[in-house]
Amino acid sequence: MTKYVYSFGRGKAEGSSVMRNLLGGKGCELAEMTNLGIPVPPGFTVTTQAWAAYNRTGRQFPDGLWDQVASALEKLEQDAGLVLGDPRRPLLVSVRSGARVSMPGMMETVLNLGLNDATVEGLAAWTGNERFAWDCYRRFIAMFGDVVLGIKREAFDEHLEALKKHLGVKSDPEVPAAELARLTQTFKDIVGSRTGSEFPQDPREQLRLAVRAVFDSWFAKKATEYRRIHNIPAEWGTAVTVMSMVFGNLGETSGTGVGFTRDPRTGEPIFYAEFLANAQGEDVVAGIRTPEHIDDLKRRMPEIYDELLTIAGRLERHYKDMQDIEFTIQEGKLYLLQTRSGKRSAAAAVRVAVDLVHEAVIDQHTALLRVRPQDLNQVLHPGFDAQDKAEAIRAGRLLARGLPAAPGAAVGEVVFDADRAVEWAKAGRRVILLRAETSPEDIAGMYAAQGIVTSRGGRTSHAAVVAVGMGKPCVVGAGDVVISEERRTFEAGGRTVREGEIVSVDGTTGEVLLDSIDTVEPGLQDSFRELLSWADRYRTLGVRANADTPDDARKAREFGAEGIGLVRTEHMFFAPDRIAIVREMIMAGDRATRLAAVQKLLPFQRDDFVGIFRAMDGLPVTVRLLDPPLHEFLANPKEYREMIEERARLDALNMNPARQAALDEKLAKIDSLREANPMLGHRGCRLGITSPEIYAMQVRAIMEAACTVAEQGVKVEPEIMIPLTGTVGEMKLTYENTKTVAEAAKIEMGGAVTYTIGTMIEVPRAALIADKIAQDAEFFSFGTNDLTQMTFGYSRDDVAKFLPDYLQKGLLQHDPFSVLDQEGVGELIRIGIERGRRTRPDLKVGICGEHGGEPASVEFCHKVGMTYVSCSPFMIPIARLSAAQARIRVREASAEGAPSA
Ligand code: PEP
Ligand code: MG
Repeated sequence: MTKYVYSFGRGKAEGSSVMRNLLGGKGCELAEMTNLGIPVPPGFTVTTQAWAAYNRTGRQFPDGLWDQVASALEKLEQDAGLVLGDPRRPLLVSVRSGARVSMPGMMETVLNLGLNDATVEGLAAWTGNERFAWDCYRRFIAMFGDVVLGIKREAFDEHLEALKKHLGVKSDPEVPAAELARLTQTFKDIVGSRTGSEFPQDPREQLRLAVRAVFDSWFAKKATEYRRIHNIPAEWGTAVTVMSMVFGNLGETSGTGVGFTRDPRTGEPIFYAEFLANAQGEDVVAGIRTPEHIDDLKRRMPEIYDELLTIAGRLERHYKDMQDIEFTIQEGKLYLLQTRSGKRSAAAAVRVAVDLVHEAVIDQHTALLRVRPQDLNQVLHPGFDAQDKAEAIRAGRLLARGLPAAPGAAVGEVVFDADRAVEWAKAGRRVILLRAETSPEDIAGMYAAQGIVTSRGGRTSHAAVVAVGMGKPCVVGAGDVVISEERRTFEAGGRTVREGEIVSVDGTTGEVLLDSIDTVEPGLQDSFRELLSWADRYRTLGVRANADTPDDARKAREFGAEGIGLVRTEHMFFAPDRIAIVREMIMAGDRATRLAAVQKLLPFQRDDFVGIFRAMDGLPVTVRLLDPPLHEFLANPKEYREMIEERARLDALNMNPARQAALDEKLAKIDSLREANPMLGHRGCRLGITSPEIYAMQVRAIMEAACTVAEQGVKVEPEIMIPLTGTVGEMKLTYENTKTVAEAAKIEMGGAVTYTIGTMIEVPRAALIADKIAQDAEFFSFGTNDLTQMTFGYSRDDVAKFLPDYLQKGLLQHDPFSVLDQEGVGELIRIGIERGRRTRPDLKVGICGEHGGEPASVEFCHKVGMTYVSCSPFMIPIARLSAAQARIRVREASAEGAPSA
């Protein structure tokens, strides 16, 4: 006969915490605590296997179940010294659901079961508290009516409310016993009239009905929805735990409380708890009374307080983690009603994990796996005070939602252009830059702003990539924001917001709110550094940074970067002292003028590289040659419009023909460079092939800088990277051109610098012919922003138009520009690595798309054997931890005999 029921009580339990799948989370931990000798009210658990049998047979209790319940109940009665239905000293029980994973509030519970017209009197006499007895009975009927008999809760509550009004009292405890007795009768009448039969008086019948209702609550709409969202299989089912009730409201030596074994906000090792004397758990949860500090318990019942603290410590050591416990004191006796691993802030997660290692409770592996890498954002960036934000949303201040592009919280005055952002910031004002989209020229404004919002663009659009690099909170693709640059306002969420009004930007969630919201500053703690130092010990995957300036490079080093995986050289072209020269270079009518302009850029580039090489002394630096289509450096749409207007004005006034001719020439050039699909157009190595003088200048600048710093004793080994290669011919030609210039520069400088020339793999074709590409390329770096764009055929810049719909309809699980698509893009990466290493077994392979700092993607990179990941400086701690977790998990899986990758 299958065993469907497991008892616990009086220091002995049939189950234990390893039986979570069978007994559910609550049932197995109650059993475990009982076995540990921790005081737990006696009870028994009906297994998930019983639920499965019930479910299989069209909701029939399996044979033998009820006999097993009957004997477990008998044992429970003995353990409790009370009998169910005894009119003098009645046993009351709670009937609770318990799935193998916690599904808070999704399934049902019935409390105070066992009360009827006779036992209520017995309870009143035994406790000497008539009011208490009637209060329990009326609560029981309402709860049973709702959960078991399907009568809406309001049907009962409205009578209680009417009664309180009639009595002129505000709170439930003010309703006297006689009135509660009358109310109970009303409740019974409601049951009678709604169900056509009397409220069940037989406690065993009550129990049977309650177990059935809790089993059935697995199928309730909210539970089904919760399972869908959290990927919980429907066939798991729930266990049901029946446990003796204990009462915290039997007078001044009773009470109830909840607590954490450490402070869940900071991780500080103090008992963090609240207590309410003479109260039931429900009162704490429902907020009927404000709980006291736990010191109140210490003052009232010092022995109980000490006992509780001892138990908390034991539970923590036993479960090897911070616990969240519920307890009740009934007439001077302490009971634990629940223990589970406590929810905590990211800062607390780090501190608790590290402290537990110091306390020799867990090892470093376990500590590393305890912290969710993405939660480190909370430790690295400020966030909004959760309560203040929730209130703002309730008050209708949510203006718009977009894609969460760069984490953190920012508050400031709205501005609509980069120049004003800089101007206001200089005057000490905090600003939020709001643009339809950003162009590289907005960089100074982005830098000056606290946060950035765009109404268009995806996670790898310019704004997002730059903001992540700067560590600025950023929301992109907030499609509901309609900007009027003319009027200097935007409309969103049914409101019009003017320039200078305050908004709050949550880059972690993608929300934009009106007015200011309180922020919570992160504090980098010693434990954070210590945890990351352990991560470095365990990981084999390298972690580099994407950094474009010496400042970024220094920051990257501080965060623990082991090199730079991507210097986007074009970002250097936008600085105010250079953009004019870049434009001169592009607009040049002949080769001589173009060469002259290119030469003017050389010293700037060389200085940039000198700064970066110095900052990264001893660490590798990958410099990518120019990538974006040239039109990006020309006039932005606003400037273009102004040129057209100026041209029209001069023409109408018949003035300044020389200026008109110059404007015509400029406009014609801009028009000629315009492309229908610039991201698929004249960019990357294609540009290097048609305008070799630009790459030649950059390669020379890299080599001159390297030789200069090497001479000063800096260890430098530049890696020159060619973007957007797709054919062997492109690779060969660009490689040869690069080599020729680099060698010439080396000879001229007389330096002994070694360097390598490699390529980005961003075009699917390059991944497929990687063996041939690797004949020349000395290293690979997967540019997964472009590789994702070209594999899906989704424009990086326009994806926000349809992505939210795709996510909402479940057509995509994640934004593929955030979380690497392992099935498609990942397959190309696998192929690329495998084929590349067929030609060069020791090929160095990295990733420098935005995925390089995303935990699941980092794990993938570890599994496919990449050498390193490269991500923005602020993501480096996340990448370090993710890489360590990936290695630990892979090793654990292979130790268990599972495939390792
Ligand atoms: C990429 O495409 O992944 C990449 C890093 O290059 P960019 O984002 O500059 O195109
Ligand atoms: Mg790219």
